[in-house]
Amino acid sequence: KAEDLKRIISRIDGRGYKAYKEIEGEYELNTCYLYIDHAQADPFAPMSRIRLRVPIAKAGFPKHLYQGVKLTALEDIIARLIKKELDRLNLKPAGTGNSGLIFIDAGGQEVIKRTAVKITSEFIEARLSVGLPASGRTIKGQAALHIFLHILPLIAEKCLYYKELDPHMLEEHVNLFADQEYLREKLDELGLVAFVGNGAILPRRSGNSNLPLPAREAVKFKSPPDLQITITTPHHGPITGMGIRKGVTLITGGGFHGKSTLLKALERGVYNHIKGDGREWVITVRDAVKIRAEDGRNIEKVDISCFIDNLPFQKDTKSFSTENASGSTSQAANIMEALELGARLLLLDEDTSATNFMIRDERMQRLIAKDKEPITPFIDRVRQLYEEQGVSSILVIGGSGDYLEVADTVIMLDSYQVYNVTDKARKIVQEVPSQRIIEKRNRLEVNAFRIIKKASWSDGRHKKAKVAAKGIDTVLYGKTAIDLSAVEQLIDPGQTRAIAHLLVYMQRYVDDRRSLREIIDKVYEDIADNFEVISPFPAGQHPGDLVWVRPYELGAALNRLRTLQIK
Ligand code: ADP
Ligand code: MG
Repeated sequence: KAEDLKRIISRIDGRGYKAYKEIEGEYELNTCYLYIDHAQADPFAPMSRIRLRVPIAKAGFPKHLYQGVKLTALEDIIARLIKKELDRLNLKPAGTGNSGLIFIDAGGQEVIKRTAVKITSEFIEARLSVGLPASGRTIKGQAALHIFLHILPLIAEKCLYYKELDPHMLEEHVNLFADQEYLREKLDELGLVAFVGNGAILPRRSGNSNLPLPAREAVKFKSPPDLQITITTPHHGPITGMGIRKGVTLITGGGFHGKSTLLKALERGVYNHIKGDGREWVITVRDAVKIRAEDGRNIEKVDISCFIDNLPFQKDTKSFSTENASGSTSQAANIMEALELGARLLLLDEDTSATNFMIRDERMQRLIAKDKEPITPFIDRVRQLYEEQGVSSILVIGGSGDYLEVADTVIMLDSYQVYNVTDKARKIVQEVPSQRIIEKRNRLEVNAFRIIKKASWSDGRHKKAKVAAKGIDTVLYGKTAIDLSAVEQLIDPGQTRAIAHLLVYMQRYVDDRRSLREIIDKVYEDIADNFEVISPFPAGQHPGDLVWVRPYELGAALNRLRTLQIK
């Protein structure tokens, strides 16, 4: 009861900060249940974890708003509404450290499953963090009471009850998400790997912004007529745009004409975007993986032999390891690791690729004998990848005409407008034949059986190491940092936190016999049912601010763990 909380807080008012521990527990407030799962130990420690819960019958959300895939979207919008309400309250720090601050981990431009709000057949629950107020290390009881008995009940009242919310806005949010999922599911049967809706705004405000370029500055996307397709969605009716077919697609055009911008949008098309983002109808298959060069990364026993063999000093490339990869070996490993986890579409940009990995032209072939050149360039494998493995590629190439020969479709960007130049490219290939020799004909094999050793996790000191995420790009595993800055489809710090906990969770399946792929599959079976099993906190409590992450990004982290050991 609220009275109990009042009593405890007046008792600990003015005492040392540690006394806040006494408020942990469950209270019935007038608009919701309040669960104080964890009270922080000092004003600078990570904020206290609390939950606000309303029984679903009382909250009154109609079932159709959270059925099936819509659940993720309704949870997402509620978190956004709470964030908006908190922003509106404009809370100022009320004392030392994070005193008086209230936080919810709402989404950005993407709608991804996250733990900030949970809706079940029984309740709707918001997971927040609160900075318990103090002056120095002295508890400020009045300020704490204001948060618990005034602000939080108000948040619950305004955001957790259907009748308080704009039904049209909720409907719109969940229907957009549902149609985006629908379209993505449709791609395969239409023979497509990606779709870009007409009218899309692909460029961002700046290189480090995820927000759209203002509409008046942007050239809106328009499909070339012969690549145009219309898909009828349940809620938005027919959506028209460019379909990118399975196979090998080239995006070409002059420098600064928008090639990388299109590819970047396709990379992000594995996620669904909010209304107004400009990329609402940019939809890519789930299993699309961005591939780039990443020199300096470690590689642990990856078979890169289909791209690289005959290394100097007979270094084995069927099981290639290094602490410090080159541009080309890292790019080869990134591909093989993505294939190992089931990637169906590879996305490559010349801007972030190793040149010698991508091409080796006729003159270089003449100058350097094949047995002196360890690299079989991607151009000689890209068709095989599709024909033998069913793996499509979309490549940004502005600088090598040799690629015209291996492409099924060639798209050209000219002043941000898209043209289909496939026929023209075919003609050029006939008129100006290339003398280059195709370098490899042997089968392309993907090894999905790398067995992980338990010792990978020992951190060299025979005890369980601590994990933590730092921003988007770093996971600390004990003393080793995993650098994820080149993992470009990792976009939310909550995903990085999820990866940190997944790296701990997955250990239960590591038995020196299972392969990396098997272990990751098992983990995803578990989290498909209940994402929160990976939480480091007791079951049923505030699970921390976690965001769903694909097996590719988890695999990327594991593969970059410098203590990883493969049998
Ligand atoms: P490329 O890869 O062809 O060299 P980029 O994709 O890097 O070109 O784009 C160059 C610049 O043009 C970037 O600043 C980008 O934001 C901008 N840009 C790209 N597409 C559009 C567009 N459709 N409308 C307006 N500006 C765009
Ligand atoms: Mg570019």
